[in-house]
Amino acid sequence: MGAAHREILVATDFGEASVAAVSHASKLALESSAQLHLLHVLPHHEWSPGELADERRHVLERLGTAITADVELALKTVKEVVVGHPADEIVAYARRRGCDLVVVGTHGHNALRRLTLGSVAQQVLRESPCPVAVIRPHGGGGWEADGGPVFVETPISLESPALDLIDRGRRLAATDVHIDPVSATRYSVRLRIDGRLVEYCGLESSVAHHLINRLKTLAGLDITTSFRPQEGRLRLPVEIDDTEVRITTAPVAGGEAVSLRLLVRSRVFLPLEDLGLSTTHLNAIRDMAQTAEGLVAISGPTGAGKTTLAYSMLESLASVDRNMVSIEDPIEMAVPFMRQLAADEKHGLTLAAGLRAILRMDPDVVFVGEVRDAETANVAMQAANSGRYVLSTLHARSVASTVAGLVGMGLDRRTLAANLTGVVNVRLVRRLCTACRKPAAPSEHLLARCDQAGVPRPSEIFRPEGCQFCRGTGYRGRIGLYEVANVDTAMAAAIVEAMDERAFEAMLRSSGVPPLIDDAVRKIASGIVGEREATSVHWLA
Ligand SMILES: [Zn+2]
Repeated sequence: MGAAHREILVATDFGEASVAAVSHASKLALESSAQLHLLHVLPHHEWSPGELADERRHVLERLGTAITADVELALKTVKEVVVGHPADEIVAYARRRGCDLVVVGTHGHNALRRLTLGSVAQQVLRESPCPVAVIRPHGGGGWEADGGPVFVETPISLESPALDLIDRGRRLAATDVHIDPVSATRYSVRLRIDGRLVEYCGLESSVAHHLINRLKTLAGLDITTSFRPQEGRLRLPVEIDDTEVRITTAPVAGGEAVSLRLLVRSRVFLPLEDLGLSTTHLNAIRDMAQTAEGLVAISGPTGAGKTTLAYSMLESLASVDRNMVSIEDPIEMAVPFMRQLAADEKHGLTLAAGLRAILRMDPDVVFVGEVRDAETANVAMQAANSGRYVLSTLHARSVASTVAGLVGMGLDRRTLAANLTGVVNVRLVRRLCTACRKPAAPSEHLLARCDQAGVPRPSEIFRPEGCQFCRGTGYRGRIGLYEVANVDTAMAAAIVEAMDERAFEAMLRSSGVPPLIDDAVRKIASGIVGEREATSVHWLA
């Protein structure tokens, strides 16, 4: 744990989590020859003086047995029993004795909400004068402190809570931060990390109000009103201005809710090589980008990485002799190489109207994010037909359903067949944390799918475990799964023939376009993703 601690406080209620906390604190204390403070808080109760004395003696004995004899011998330990509210007393004790680390155990809930903290741990985290190590349940079901997940976190800074929170979000690779009132006196802060929403911490209302005011000020919003929704973009100091933060506030029951969307430039602008594309897919997508004509459709569900892929393709095309313009709803991130228009339905700038305006700006490359209606699809098609290179994102489950969707928007089949250059369908799944992934036997089902996909049968695959590098989740970062089709003559003919979606799918397979599941199988077999994660993907047949 790096830093040497001189006074370590561990609070115990003698529960399972506390046993793990005491053992972890003992180990840290031994390593750094620190003084170990063992604290137990008795509940408020009408104790008679005699009862209290008895209870204290009893608890002190139990505290004596909470640590092993050799720890007791080697360490300077202080045992203390106090009466009151656990979190209040833990914080007060740490303050009084000048402790430099507090260790507490907490019961998590289930695997999906592993970051959930108990209320005592939350309050200690928030109010502690020093760093707090929270010992949480181990992914495997045990309560391991040694080698198990340990997180040292400090309470949110009251001086600059907004920047502190954004910085934490960045470091945890969160894409969204949500601040919501949960009771008359408390707010909760949740983070979306690798696509999952997790509880991060609780805040007292006064702290939350201060935080929300700072966030609104940074975005130039009206801090005097919390009765109407507002949105904006935060202006951040240079140290973290590689992050773009969009804010949306809205009045909700019990107060004001705030959502932040965090975009870190270096994570949005990934070179095509870093998107987890197989060599075949990478070459196919490079071809689509370099051809620079016709229409390329990038499809998938919401939050599947469509825009990241589109920006990466667009960036690979950027040069001074290309005029690149986009119409987006909303603009995901301001980019240097492209003129970006934001659609604004409220003021009459629909996607289709914006797209028409763009076409009068002499563009070579047009990006539409995202095509949702027939009018926009038709204007995009006309643009492609008049020699512009058009990239667009849309909501669809596969390459075949993307084509069906475009036809369903009333596009002329012959024009579509003549201009559609390529279709990429994408999903994002979580990457296994390489620091803790554990070998596992591949299932018969998986082996059968490997045979179908032409992927050599793996002797072992990996499953998620959980460690301090991945906050106990077993996953770190995400990777794309892809189905990629460069439109060839057979596909063009099928579009003209009005082939139905199922037949189109079969035609794709026979012309050598593997389904998305094959890409999933390949990535499971090579240990990048877990079997359950990759095969439970939204809309995966
Ligand atoms: Zn890990």
